[in-house]
Amino acid sequence: MMECESVLPFTHYQQPQRERLQDLVRAPEWQAILARHHALRQWKADIRVPPAAPGQQVTANQYLAERNFQRVKKLLSEGVTDENRLVEGLGNWRAALAGDERFPIVFLGLVVTLDCFFLPRCLYCNQTWLPRRLTLDDWKALLREAAEPTPPYVYLPGGEPLQLGAEIWGDNGLVASAADLGSAVNINTNAVLITPQVALQLVKVGLAKLHISLDSIDPKVQGQLFQGRERLDAVLNGIYNVQIAREVLGANHPQVHVNCVLTARNLFQFPDLLRFLLEIRQIRSSRFEGRIGEDPVFRDFAFHLIPVGGRENALLRPTAEEWKRFYSETWAEAEQVWQDYQTAVGVPEDERNSLERYCPFASPFLRADHKMGLDEYCERAAQGNYWQGALVDRCYVAPTQAFVLPDGSQHWCGAHAIRHPPPLGNVQGSTLRENIRANISRWAEYPNDYCTGCAGATCVINQTAQRNLRKQVSEWIAEHDCLRNGQDTDT
Ligand code: SF4
Ligand code: SF4
Repeated sequence: MMECESVLPFTHYQQPQRERLQDLVRAPEWQAILARHHALRQWKADIRVPPAAPGQQVTANQYLAERNFQRVKKLLSEGVTDENRLVEGLGNWRAALAGDERFPIVFLGLVVTLDCFFLPRCLYCNQTWLPRRLTLDDWKALLREAAEPTPPYVYLPGGEPLQLGAEIWGDNGLVASAADLGSAVNINTNAVLITPQVALQLVKVGLAKLHISLDSIDPKVQGQLFQGRERLDAVLNGIYNVQIAREVLGANHPQVHVNCVLTARNLFQFPDLLRFLLEIRQIRSSRFEGRIGEDPVFRDFAFHLIPVGGRENALLRPTAEEWKRFYSETWAEAEQVWQDYQTAVGVPEDERNSLERYCPFASPFLRADHKMGLDEYCERAAQGNYWQGALVDRCYVAPTQAFVLPDGSQHWCGAHAIRHPPPLGNVQGSTLRENIRANISRWAEYPNDYCTGCAGATCVINQTAQRNLRKQVSEWIAEHDCLRNGQDTDT
């Protein structure tokens, strides 16, 4: 070891990962940074802590209750007790937005570019390219518009957003601007452009979360899916740079999550991927002494399993039998990997939980209420229809969110932004809220044919929102009955 070489201890990592990180930190790029003591002190002093993310479903429910309360009470006083009709009244976005020009936008998806330097593209990539027509100032103006009255959760998918460089991670870039406005930001990336310098900047500007694409830890399989065998190492390097940057600057952010696209090629390798993710994650934060489940790094390296979408990916889609095997044998094997991990790292008995509890995004079948059993679900999944059985009869979240594409076109949600139905409008000619209000008369149409690719997370939010509306309505019916019975007794 050179005399002046700086090597961090990485105490809270397991041995194999500690060695990987120590090897990487010995590389000249990291050593040059670690030698700049004054600059590092300044970097630490300037760190923004990411704001907390707003609860999308809670905000939607609260807003609807606030705006539609009088209408529902009036129906009750007129003798309407049909729960469905009252829920319909309470959940009516068209009525709620009437006369309100400052309603909350809780989730803001900004597709800053659809370009990606992975050429050829990943085997399953189903993005349709659009030209970039918005400047950094345009994107910042959208952040400012959305931030009042409640700063939204800002999601930067792609293409590859880090291709925009300092416009994203610079001191005056998009992440820093959003964090200053009170927004938690999530970047969806392949991680290859996360050099040591970029990793440190992402910590400094207060990025809340990174979603990194990783489908398999088998170089052959991942090489096929990425259409480039060398790409796996480049992705892992980017991930490790984030881990080192967090240690160097003494921060717990950005949290790393992994997006794993499930295809027929990697479906049964999931337990191996999980084993690897559990090996590379920090066991617990070096700066937290409480219960493991409350540790800020507890959900680090949580994984999102995304069944492969798009008609053009039919050949990559697992068969019904393969899905069934995945949800039975493979899932049980993964659960065992998780239980063994908890034992190995000494999670106290009373803090242990199931894989599903650790990572609620994990299983597309288990995480939502589907109107069918596993057999029928697997038949539908084999046709690429993953969420139709989990859609509720109204979309309660679309009016609380906005998705803007590089050409300025605005859609209700990420699923529509991929399928490109006619947009709500273009942010170059009208504001986010004007576009939502201009289209709110169509709200009752959703879910429609464009919604079969609805994101699993959104289906779960919609299901919870509808359950909460029902609960609220039945409480009001009970209160109303109580009051009426009291009046009857008095008379
Ligand atoms: S990294 Fe993402 S955007 Fe780039 S080719 Fe792959 S799937 Fe498409
Ligand atoms: S896909 Fe349809 S149901 Fe899902 S969020 Fe979008 S509009 Fe709503």
